[in-house]
Amino acid sequence: MYVMSNNYKLDLNDLRTKLENADDVVIALLPFPSQKSSNKLMDEYYKIYSDKYTDIFDDYYIPEDTYWELPNWASYATSIAKRYDTNPRIWDASGVEYSKLMNDEVDIEGDVLLTSPLIQNYDLCKHIHDKDGITVIRGGVTTQEEYYEQETPYFSFELERITDPDYSLLSEVYPNPPLLRIASTEGCVFECDFCTIQNKDAIKRDFDKVEKWLQQYKEHYPDTRIFYLDNKTFGQKPDSLPKLHDLFEKYYDDYQLIVQTNHIVVDDNLIEIMKKMNVKVVELGIETLDKERLIQTDKTVIKNIGYDSYIENLIDTLHDLNDNDMFVIGNLIAGLYDTYNPDPTLDFMNEYSDLVYLWNIYALAKYPEAGYEYESHGEIREDEGKELTELLSEGIKLNKKR
Ligand code: SF4
Repeated sequence: MYVMSNNYKLDLNDLRTKLENADDVVIALLPFPSQKSSNKLMDEYYKIYSDKYTDIFDDYYIPEDTYWELPNWASYATSIAKRYDTNPRIWDASGVEYSKLMNDEVDIEGDVLLTSPLIQNYDLCKHIHDKDGITVIRGGVTTQEEYYEQETPYFSFELERITDPDYSLLSEVYPNPPLLRIASTEGCVFECDFCTIQNKDAIKRDFDKVEKWLQQYKEHYPDTRIFYLDNKTFGQKPDSLPKLHDLFEKYYDDYQLIVQTNHIVVDDNLIEIMKKMNVKVVELGIETLDKERLIQTDKTVIKNIGYDSYIENLIDTLHDLNDNDMFVIGNLIAGLYDTYNPDPTLDFMNEYSDLVYLWNIYALAKYPEAGYEYESHGEIREDEGKELTELLSEGIKLNKKR
């Protein structure tokens, strides 16, 4: 087995040494355990989710047996590996059955594997790293450091801060993605305590970097039209949006946007910008309607304006977005805290379903950084919880209705 130093946190020089000493640097696209869900409700829900999105966008589809979205981290891994004159290649194992890799039924390619930072991949990375002659290096800053013994090396910095994306390899493996993600701000102005984005100021990205990103997209994906704007709260830095609008216009003349935001920042001005930027879908982070939990999430706004005004604002925003012909997706989370009380959320779903095109139900990933002990079974299971089951059942019923 490749013997690592005691310190598995790699700085840029360590990473460079490991890459330069490798014979075969592979950017490994590993399957997620959750790709094969054993939860029938989840399967049914994803089918509806896919159909609803396909109805909005002619070009939308969910690829079979691979990731739903382009693994953007791999473009940065490509960039950094090329910087050190290694000749990296991509090993696309995303469609391989997770259990086959865990049971050693599939040959592993490469001697140094760069993988994504996602917590879902950790057990598999560790398993592969235990094999003779293979080093797995996980990408970027991880969130689970306090909870796992670090048994695979990882780099302690975020690649996107030090390099620009390079889609030359990824575009060979994924030539035709249904949508592309891009962000012009990072962090979030709100401070929800279950969220790993919390407590970071919303920082504007350097627009030169955003432009390089768009250039890469245009070069490798000239035909993709749908962009998912990954600014966590669209409109949190409204002064940066005109410039973003100009950049999109420069590279894609008929792009369409999906944005995510919090209803509190949506006002008439933002809706005007949304229309100008061809926003078709607005994902609203509603999360829960349970008062106690909402207060517990420590949403600063609830403290400031109070629960009742917060809900009134949500309802007004649902009306405003619908009046302006945008599709609203209501994002809800099951599993917030240990209390089980989906009733207010279910009531709200029923009352306002005419204004919500798709109820999008998440199971909360309990990241250690957000103060939870994370249980890594990786997939969303049948026994995940009564709340998830109830929200999903109601979501499926209402999503089918509309
Ligand atoms: S508004 Fe959304 S992105 Fe921002 S902290 Fe809350 S959950 Fe996270």
